[in-house]
Amino acid sequence: MKPKALVAGNWKMNGLASSQAELEALTHYLKDGAKADCDVLICPPFTLLSVFANAASDDIAIGAQDCHTQTSGAHTGDISAEMIKDAGAAFVIVGHSERRADHGESSVLVQEKAKAVHAQGLQAIVCVGETESDRDSGNTLTVVLGQVEASIPDEVTPENTVVAYEPVWAIGTGRTPTVEDVAEVHTAIREALVQRFGDAGNEFRILYGGSVKPSNARELMSADNVNGALVGGASLKASDFNGIIDAYRNR
Ligand code: PEP
Repeated sequence: MKPKALVAGNWKMNGLASSQAELEALTHYLKDGAKADCDVLICPPFTLLSVFANAASDDIAIGAQDCHTQTSGAHTGDISAEMIKDAGAAFVIVGHSERRADHGESSVLVQEKAKAVHAQGLQAIVCVGETESDRDSGNTLTVVLGQVEASIPDEVTPENTVVAYEPVWAIGTGRTPTVEDVAEVHTAIREALVQRFGDAGNEFRILYGGSVKPSNARELMSADNVNGALVGGASLKASDFNGIIDAYRNR
């Protein structure tokens, strides 16, 4: 059976207390609009996690954008998966390319973070993706599949892990791969998951991320083995995010 789609918003370092208005607007869109055949997730900054978790309706899950590998201790400025769970969140993004680039996070570390997420009973969204030079040199699949292999722990299940394919050159740039290119990478990830986890490999959600917006969502979401989207910029405004969720409404 095809996995149920997930449309996830990554707010990155954006959002103040006043941004709760966007969460409320999204709640109304989901309640009053046509029913969407997907799960919906918002990942605000840590400062808004418990506010959003308390305010969100059952239609919207709340997640964090990163966590530490340890549960507690002398790690100034870090946040553990246990704290994230305590704040009421259900998901944690790990291995986003901005963390890999800005904080030098390796796939080995990303795997440790995913394990920390699972230890709290939360779902990890494990991000992978090639740079523009990887793509130009024909190394997309080698890089992406290498990250999938090294970032995902052996003990995962489709219930506790989501994979997000995000070409680094498509993030925040307005550029996207073709639907064929997206399908090629997603199908390769699917095959790698099946090879590693057997039939369960077919049940993992594989999200596409990178400049998804209302005008291209339906097309990108139609690509083979795409089970939803990880959305940055266009998730900040409820009306845009709802326009992406439209890809999973019958119209
Ligand atoms: C992201 O950072 O996860 C992302 C996909 O960003 P954007 O949608 O802005 O390209």
